[in-house]
Amino acid sequence: MATKLVKRENLPTKLWVDNEFKEGTGATVKLVNPKDASTIAEFKGASEADVDNTVSISQKAFESGPWASLSGEEKGVILNKFAQLILDNASEIAYFESVCSGRPLAQCNYEIPRVASVYRYYAGWADKIRGDSYPPEDGFYKIVRQEPLGVCAGITAWNGSLHFLAWKSAPALACGNTVIIKPSEKSPLGTLAVASLIKEAGFPPGVFQVLPGGGDVGAILSSHMKIAKISFTGSTFTGRKIQDAATKSNLKRVTLELGGKSPALVFDDASLEKAVFWCTIGIATNAGQVCAATTRLFVQEGIADKFLAALKGSFEAITKTLGSDPQEMTTTYGPLVDKIQYDKVRGFIEEGKKSTEVIIGGEEYTKGGYFIGPVIFKNPSEEAKIYREEIFGPVLCVRTFKTEEEAIQLANDTDYGLAGAIYTQDVNRALRVASKVRGGTIGINCTSVVGPQVPMGGFGSSGYGRELGEYAIRHYTETKAIWINMN
Ligand code: NAD
Repeated sequence: MATKLVKRENLPTKLWVDNEFKEGTGATVKLVNPKDASTIAEFKGASEADVDNTVSISQKAFESGPWASLSGEEKGVILNKFAQLILDNASEIAYFESVCSGRPLAQCNYEIPRVASVYRYYAGWADKIRGDSYPPEDGFYKIVRQEPLGVCAGITAWNGSLHFLAWKSAPALACGNTVIIKPSEKSPLGTLAVASLIKEAGFPPGVFQVLPGGGDVGAILSSHMKIAKISFTGSTFTGRKIQDAATKSNLKRVTLELGGKSPALVFDDASLEKAVFWCTIGIATNAGQVCAATTRLFVQEGIADKFLAALKGSFEAITKTLGSDPQEMTTTYGPLVDKIQYDKVRGFIEEGKKSTEVIIGGEEYTKGGYFIGPVIFKNPSEEAKIYREEIFGPVLCVRTFKTEEEAIQLANDTDYGLAGAIYTQDVNRALRVASKVRGGTIGINCTSVVGPQVPMGGFGSSGYGRELGEYAIRHYTETKAIWINMN
């Protein structure tokens, strides 16, 4: 029988510490629904004292609590139960996720089973974390162990909070660490709703805690002397600060999942229908607020006119429904997350319009809420801000190319390297180009796909380290060599 513990009338607006909700004593967090700018809630986030207290509890749980002596199998049982509880409470968790972020409810619902599957995947890993050994040919028997790091903190962005929660906490817990997550102040309710299931799943107190709050809370965690690792998902701007704080404090381990300006390459032989479908997903999902959004589109000359006409048609269909209620299950395109992001994206659009041809979009939406329909700019200059900088909104820059070499050169002309997409029916070309485009995830006739076994992360200014799969295990364990003198 499904355990329904999350209820939308009980807003989870407290800190989750030591297996219970506690009032925060830090700065006020104000939550606003971006569809109409209405206030959802105001509550106190974590203060420095709250962070210190939570870290001490986490450290104690790591060193001497029951978690430290549970077997891998027992940890796996808890992670599996947690996954099931998330599934049992999916619709309410999805509602909390949608209401603050403006992400369509249907999309948040779609996400929940994928979040649960990450916990299930790492439940399977919990009894398979192993090391190596080397024979005593030199008189010493060598054992190499993978040991947990200690207190691991995750700081997350708002645009996929539940994914990031799972990607950070599941491998960390499977490896035997204790975890503190700080969700974005823009959309913490989904994460806190999931947190309310931690005790029921069987995690001992202090093992898995959640501290809502703003950038100040993230900064305190990043420079905390008792935190062994920070895993961050957010902007490159903030990532640099976190790395700096880690360096200046205790040299804690850091992994950074940062921004992007990812390319999509459409070759003459591409399936027009598939390429239009995926290029639309690549920029319209979350109204372009996706790290891996394919925001620079390069189309081969032979197909360019036909392709752009079809893409324009696809964007027109979205524009017609602009302003739809993201909390309705039929809505597929929502508003931007808040006024700050809305003003930022509008600023890029207005500046772009001064020098670059607009194929579709760009007008202001005046009926309320932070909505912006998809925009296509054609042939921006190589120096244009809209072409160079991450906008994190539904703004696409299009240029054409003649040859494969030119396409690769255009794709790699960026400091970022998060993702990329290649549209062609020639498998040899697809694999050749995929090997040359700099990016952590390359889609062939698809984009923005993730799965628990497959690593996710960036090259260059898109960060370093990998989440998901076996790759994440390396980032949540420390390697120890033990030498035994056999003589
Ligand atoms: P952001 O960098 O503004 O905030 C992310 C998190 O960092 C929030 O929890 C915030 O409170 C915290 N933070 C802010 N200042 C901090 C500080 N000084 N020290 C520590 N923490 C601090 O990013 P955002 O607006 O929430 O998200 C959008 C950005 O995230 C985009 O750049 C996007 O590309 C990136 N992103 C990357 C990935 C990825 O997997 N690579 C995924 C999603 C989003």
